[in-house]
Amino acid sequence: MKLELHWQILIGMILGAALGIGANIQLSTRTSVLTVADGLPQSIADKHDITSAIVMDSSNLIKVTWVKTDGSEETRIVDPTGKEPGAVLMLEDLKKKSPLAHELYSLAPSYAKIIGQWCKRIGSLFLRLLQMVSVPLIITSLASGVLGLGGASRFGKMFSTTLGYYMCTSFLAILTGLLITNIINPGLNSEIRLDLGVAQVEPKSITETLMEQVEAMIPANPFEAIASAKFLSVISFTIVFCIFALQVGGDVHKRFQQLAGDGFAVMMKLTTAIIKLAPYGVFLLMIYVTATQGAKVFSALGWYMLAVVVALGVHAFVTLPLVLWLLGKRNPFGFLQHMSPALLTAFSSASSNATLPITMSNIEERAGVSNRSSSFVLPLGATINMDGTALYEAVAVLFIGQLAMGDEFTFMHQVSVAVTALLASVGAAGIPHAGLVMMAIVLQAVNLPIEYQGIILAVDRVLDMMRTAVNVWSDSCGTALVDHLIDNPDAPEVANAA
Ligand code: ASP
Repeated sequence: MKLELHWQILIGMILGAALGIGANIQLSTRTSVLTVADGLPQSIADKHDITSAIVMDSSNLIKVTWVKTDGSEETRIVDPTGKEPGAVLMLEDLKKKSPLAHELYSLAPSYAKIIGQWCKRIGSLFLRLLQMVSVPLIITSLASGVLGLGGASRFGKMFSTTLGYYMCTSFLAILTGLLITNIINPGLNSEIRLDLGVAQVEPKSITETLMEQVEAMIPANPFEAIASAKFLSVISFTIVFCIFALQVGGDVHKRFQQLAGDGFAVMMKLTTAIIKLAPYGVFLLMIYVTATQGAKVFSALGWYMLAVVVALGVHAFVTLPLVLWLLGKRNPFGFLQHMSPALLTAFSSASSNATLPITMSNIEERAGVSNRSSSFVLPLGATINMDGTALYEAVAVLFIGQLAMGDEFTFMHQVSVAVTALLASVGAAGIPHAGLVMMAIVLQAVNLPIEYQGIILAVDRVLDMMRTAVNVWSDSCGTALVDHLIDNPDAPEVANAA
């Protein structure tokens, strides 16, 4: 019997974490002599006038000594017990008091560090595969969604109402995510700090931030945008291209639709194949994280998961039902019950696309929404309306930002996160882990390296299941709303019975 992918990932995660923590406990000590011939960079030796350094690291004391060219020696000590005179209490303090001592300490190898770095290198191949598919996946997924609208004449009121709903609810979802994360502060509450040399970002003004996003949406050269994986530019150009292909109509529309559909089918297959490697990727990246950072990494992930779950809960059980009740004039409880098979399928498959046939049949047959609305709003929604994903991108990047930059992750950064999370969710395909692929766009917007994703990868599957259910729930509420707002002569009576 073959285990389901999410079980495999869970096992990969637990095994990786156990091995990594074991390595961290057993193999973390670093006792070595650094010379220019062996591990001490010439630039540091020249800059500080030193010939060699000795790093001694026992379980409760770190001693860094360096020898100057004139033969004199200097020593810095880290002693958590505070007994050693002149010693600092924590490694972080050493960084502030003596950057040189900290740098020398980081240069000294430990087995845990070496193992961790290799696991990171190999595990990053999995991330590279995800990066590899992201641009073609976005283009084909978006194109087949927009071109599937059926013809330029069907735009009009339904299109604007649908888009209005998508944008408003996604934005509300992002705001909820940011708000809850700012209350829970998962990154600030944790002890770990990511310190991989983040480029220092000057906080920008809100006008500057927004102008940059607008500029990115108008690529001067769309091919260059595709080649250099500028997601924002790729998404906007694809949408504009498809809208105009719809306007040209006829055979041109049909051929492009066929091409986009075929391309999407291939990309989905490829992506699904890559995602099968997730257990190995998770295993290796988990070893990397825990071998280099220790078990404390889990407390941070606990807070992070809490933030995602609470925010998704608020959006799914408060915001969307209110919208449905007030604007769609429909009983949210009855509707939830009607849609439950689709929602449970979304939860277990973590794919809005895979769930689409069930969503369509539930909404028409159980909830009584007209086929005219559902055939228009649902497929488009499965591709571009992802409230759960948008919320998740915002929480995840804010969490990573807090870990990497602490308090320096400013309000302006959060504005960038909000805008790009919306676009990332529009670009994400309705397949498992697509949100993870798209997170690069949000990380890019706030200058955080993509490697930081490694830290949240381990718990992505379980959060993916939840956010996919929210994605499908939002598509369903949107369809009922549009059905109510747009005059539907063929809407069956049962539509408002729930
Ligand atoms: N799995 C999600 C979906 O299919 C997309 C995501 O990864 O956020 O809706």
